[in-house]
Order: sequence, then structure tokens, then C-alpha cells
Amino acid sequence: MVSRGERRPPCGAAGNLAELAELDEEALLGGLRERFLRQQVYTDVGDILIAMNPFQPLPLCGREVSERYRRQETGMLPPHIFAVASRAYYGMLGRRGNAPQNQSIVISGESGAGKTESTKLLLQHIMNLCKGNSQLERQILQVNPLLEAFGNAQTAINDNSSRFGKYIQLRFQNNTVQGAKLSEYLLEKSRVVQQDIGERNFHIFYYMFAGLSSEEKEMYGLLDPSLYRYISGRFGTSDAAQCWKHKYQEVCNALDMVGFQEQEQVDMQTILAGVLSLGNVTFEPEESDGSVKVSEVSQGWLKAAASQFGVQEDELLNCLICTMSVTRGEQIQRFHTQQQAEDARDSIAKVAYGRVFGWIVWKINELLAENVDPEVELREIGILDIFGFENFAVNRFEQLCINLANEQLQHFFNHHIFQLEQAAYKEEELPWETITFNNNEPILNLLLAKPVGLLSLLDEQSAFPQATDKTFVDKLNSSFKASLHFQPGRGRVLCFSIIHYAGKVQYTAGGFLEKNRDTLPASVHGLFINSVTPLLSVLFKATISRTGTLMPHVKAKVIPGADKFNSTRKQSAGAQFRHSLMMLMERLYSANPHFVRCIKPNSQKEPGVVDSQVVLQQLRYNGLLETIRIRRDGFSWRPSFEEFAERYGILLVKPDVSLTKESCLEILQSTELTGWICGKSRLFFKYWHQEQLGKYVERLERAAV
Ligand code: ADP
Ligand code: MG
Repeated sequence: MVSRGERRPPCGAAGNLAELAELDEEALLGGLRERFLRQQVYTDVGDILIAMNPFQPLPLCGREVSERYRRQETGMLPPHIFAVASRAYYGMLGRRGNAPQNQSIVISGESGAGKTESTKLLLQHIMNLCKGNSQLERQILQVNPLLEAFGNAQTAINDNSSRFGKYIQLRFQNNTVQGAKLSEYLLEKSRVVQQDIGERNFHIFYYMFAGLSSEEKEMYGLLDPSLYRYISGRFGTSDAAQCWKHKYQEVCNALDMVGFQEQEQVDMQTILAGVLSLGNVTFEPEESDGSVKVSEVSQGWLKAAASQFGVQEDELLNCLICTMSVTRGEQIQRFHTQQQAEDARDSIAKVAYGRVFGWIVWKINELLAENVDPEVELREIGILDIFGFENFAVNRFEQLCINLANEQLQHFFNHHIFQLEQAAYKEEELPWETITFNNNEPILNLLLAKPVGLLSLLDEQSAFPQATDKTFVDKLNSSFKASLHFQPGRGRVLCFSIIHYAGKVQYTAGGFLEKNRDTLPASVHGLFINSVTPLLSVLFKATISRTGTLMPHVKAKVIPGADKFNSTRKQSAGAQFRHSLMMLMERLYSANPHFVRCIKPNSQKEPGVVDSQVVLQQLRYNGLLETIRIRRDGFSWRPSFEEFAERYGILLVKPDVSLTKESCLEILQSTELTGWICGKSRLFFKYWHQEQLGKYVERLERAAV
């Protein structure tokens, strides 16, 4: 085994904390804080980028900087989100003798940590790298305001919080982008009907009121915003209104650009107005027989909603106050209680909004889809911006899904960073003290195993008409008695806890079954399919795929497999999410990953302030300490002798370099590289060696010109 004395890389690694001599929480925190206070918000830890949210615009992210990172070797420049984009881009192209490979960029962090802003910067820089100035490049950037208007909202933590997760796949032929595909995860539809104190509904509602002219409002049947229950009391200052007005214009431009027809835009806004009117419909018990009726004061709202949805008022009313079912060929009408009527109202509002959002995503994908010969092989860079781990005062089915996604991502991270690395050492019989890390596989099993994982049990219970949230919890309690990661709930509220990798979360079980069943009553479906508002009818004739994607029926185009989905039993919400998550993980595991970990320096959204406790907590969740250690001590790049000799044989400047260990050693001895190790069948390099070798190749190539 050959090993040579280690030497620090000459440059490029400034700002890389994997090089700290003393490595503990304090040193890491100190390093990050020191850099942050000098407005150096980006720090490398090995080849992972830590991005601290500056909470203020910094010149650091401007056009000139992007230009600099485009022109210059990233290794010569300080750590930056643009450098990550460059590495992914050149990795995708396969520069410097590397084979071209699909790339992925996984951005993680809690709400408000800067994931979405980082995603925008990545996209912006990648488009700058392509530099074709094509319409497509511009469109890819321009669809964002649209997505944010419909999918983001102000929360207690973040004024522009994404209420959905997204994975953007950029598809390239050589160095030009040919198309893009957007997948969305778990839009928080419940926000349409209810928001916590200090929070708002989705931006688009406020933008509409601020941006529409009085005539337009009249046309849509919109009255004063303060009248609407779903958004009331949440109107800001006139400054905010000015900003919303501007945003509204931006949305309209984006709608035009994406190719929404005039009528579609009108329909869409009419549907949103209908959602708001519907929200004002209230109920009261019918004195005679205990059923419910629409309260006298809200009759007008019912009429308004029906007209905005383009449906018959009495049919809408029926969907609200009763359920129709068919038993042995006989139609049975069951009247709702007041609570059930309110739930029906809210679920109609949620489903209508959800379909509008799904349709926007579908339209965007139609616009951005590549138009190339299917024979052409495209390479891909995927960027994942998905909600971080959540632990609120009350956690529901949605939080469980989000936290499941985060468990999966953490597992992917562990797999990439720790397990692959350790396995390689073992195989090559290299000495290596085992790094311990929190393997979260048992938690994933608890959630995903079949047939006795949490989601499977939930599906099983959801299929029983008699099952309740209580029987579901009983089932969990008996199935997971022995699990270290499950705790039965105590007290009066029906709940259970999961010990996640990032800590214990208590889930309130009420509503799990219903949310998982996610059934749309046939009457509601029929109501909207028969709407005279064309868009609404299209949205409800659409097919929902196994992953929950909306696919409107387009006559000219046959959607493969669509019929199959139609005829099978509807997937539960849990199964849909599991399926989309599996597809995402498949993509991630087949690409070369880059990790960006966003950190929120304080909870007050203040520039220039670092709250140690807040930061430390996030570093722990992220497993960053373990990562630093393995990155510093470990060898992240491990080419086989053949691979290495093939790529870098040119450094020997002679014909027919054999692909053997001897050639590799000869190549390496011709450089000044230090700190690498030679194993049984492969070489082991530190993360910076590849960059250094690249420079040798470049020098050689320059000399040849
Ligand atoms: P997340 O997506 O992680 O919830 P966001 O990306 O929406 O967080 O960031 C929250 C807020 O923090 C943004 O609205 C912006 O005000 C600020 N912010 C985040 N990243 C940056 C950045 N790079 N430069 C300036 N401000 C930022
Ligand atoms: Mg976000």
C-alpha cells in the first residue's frame, strides 16, 4: 500500500471546514459564525455546501459573480452555490475525461432556511452556463413566479414559504438545455380553508384583490376582501398591497408566457372566486328533523359560488348537505350533520384549488417538455427543493408524509456519505476505524414496511368502512409495541409518537383515515364535470396518476397507461405519496448527488445575527459533524486502476498507456499530488485531488494548443 505525506490543497479549499484541525461542534459553529459575520454565507464541508441564510440581498449572488463562476475554475474561487451548479453542470457534461453522468442537487433545511432561494440561484447560474439565450432558458426561469403565487404563502416562519415540494429535472443534449420537467409533492391544500394565527392563504388570493380592476372584480363576482372567511383579517398595509399588485402583474405575464389562453385565465380566476364564496357558506340545524340547511345569511354566497363554479345551485347544495350512495341498485340519501356539511364545503374548496394547481403544473410541463428525437440521449440535472423536517404543536398526516420524505433523504445522504465509503474501504482491505452514524433504516421500515408498516396499516384500515382513527391507533399500538421508534400516545387526545432521526414527533391521529382515503364523493365529481365553466369540467375529467399527478385528457395525445389508472381502484393519499417518493429516490440513487444544506442563522429573520442554539440544533439534525469527519479523514473519490489510467494516461505524454496499477503509479508520480492511497484494485483520493488533476490536464492541453 502506497501512502504519501498529506499536504493541504494549495487553494480552492479556503472556507472548507473539513480542514479544521480541531473538529467538534464548537469549532464548526465558530467557523460558520465567523464566516457569516464577514458576509461569507457559503462554506464548504468537504464537498457539501453549507448555505447560511443572510436574510438580506447580498452582492454575492449578483450577475457579475455568476459570470465569474462561469468563466473561472470553481476550485480557484471561494465556496458558493454557483460553484455547486458549475460542478453539476460539468459533471453532467463529463468534462476532463470523466464520463458524462446525470446529476442531482439535494437541498435540505428547515422552513425559512433558504432552500427555495438557493434553487432559484442554481437555476439562474445553470441557465447562465448554457448561455444559449434560448427562449426555453428564459421560460424555465419565468415559470417560477407562477408556481410561487399558487404554491407559496406567508407563514409564521417564512413570508414566502413554499407549501409544496418540487423536483425540477433539467434535460440537456450536450451543453444545451432541451427541456425541463417539474414534479410537485404534497401541496398543503388545507391552507385554502384554514390558516394559523399570523399566517395567510396562498399568495394568489391577495394578489388578485390587489391587482384586479374594479370592473374585473365585478366580472368575477368578487366583493370586498375583508368579507371572505378563508382570507379575512389578513390584509396587510398599503405597502403590501402595492407589492401584491406588482406580483399580480408578474403572474399575468407568466400566465401569458406559459400559454394560458385568455378564457382559461378568466376561468381560473372565476374558480378561485368561487372557492372564496363557497367558504362563506355556513349552516344551521333544520329545526324540524335534525338535518342541516344553509343559514339564511349565507344564501347569497351559495348562489354566488354556484354561479362562479358554473353549476346548478341546488346540485351544489346537495353536495353540501347530504351524501348519496347506491346500495343494491337503490339510491340512498343521507343527510349531513352541521360538522359534516362544513367538512364537505371545505373539501370541495380544497379539491378545486388542488386541481387548479395541478393543472398549472401540467401546463408548465407541456410548455417546457423537450421536443427532440426520442433516439437522442438526454442528460439530466435534477434539483430537489422539498420541505424540511417538521415538528409543530399539532402534527397531522401531512407532517407524517413530510417527515417520511426527510427520513428517506437522510437515508440517501447516509448511504452516499457513510455506507458507500465504508464498504469501499472494507473491500480494499484498508484500515478504517468504523465511523458510527445514526442509521435510520429501522425508522423507514417502521413507516414503509409491507404488510406491517405504518402506511400499510393505514391503508388496511382505510379500506374498512367501519374502521376509525381509534381502531387505526389501536392497530399501531399493538403492531409496534416492541419498536424503539414508536411510542403510544398518552392522555385524552388520540395520538402516537415516532422517534425520527431528528427527534420525537407526536402525531394527532384524528383525520388520518379520512385524509388517507382522500375520496371525492361521486356527487361532487359529477357536479364539476357538468360545470359550464369549461376549465372546471376539464379539471374534473382529468386522470390522476398513481403519483398524484393531474393529467387532463387531451384528445390529440394518448397518455400511456392512463386508462389503466382509471380502471384500477383509486390510490390512497399515502400510497400516492409513497409511490412518488419511490420514483424520486430512484432518480436520486441513479445520479451523482451534490448536497446543499441550508441553515437558518436565527429565528427572527434578522440579517447579521447568529443564534448559536438555533444553528447547533440544525447542525445536529443534519448529521454534519459526522460528515465532516468522514470527509476529512475519508477518500471520497475512488476510481479503479483502469478508470484512472484511462482518464489521466495523457499526463504521461506517450502512446499506449496500459490500464494497470503500474501506469497509475507512474502517472501519479509525475504529479506533485500527495495524500492518496493505492488499494487492491483502486485508488483512493481526497475530494480535492480531482480538481488538482484537472489542472494538470488543462495545463497540458494549453501547452498543446
Ligand atoms: P425555504 O425555502 O428554505 O423555506 P426561502 O428560500 O423561502 O426558505 O427563504 C426564506 C427567506 O429568506 C426569503 O424569502 C428571503 O427573504 C431570505 N433569503 C433566503 N436566501 C436568501 C439569499 N440567498 N439572499 C437573500 N435573502 C435570502
Ligand atoms: Mg421554500
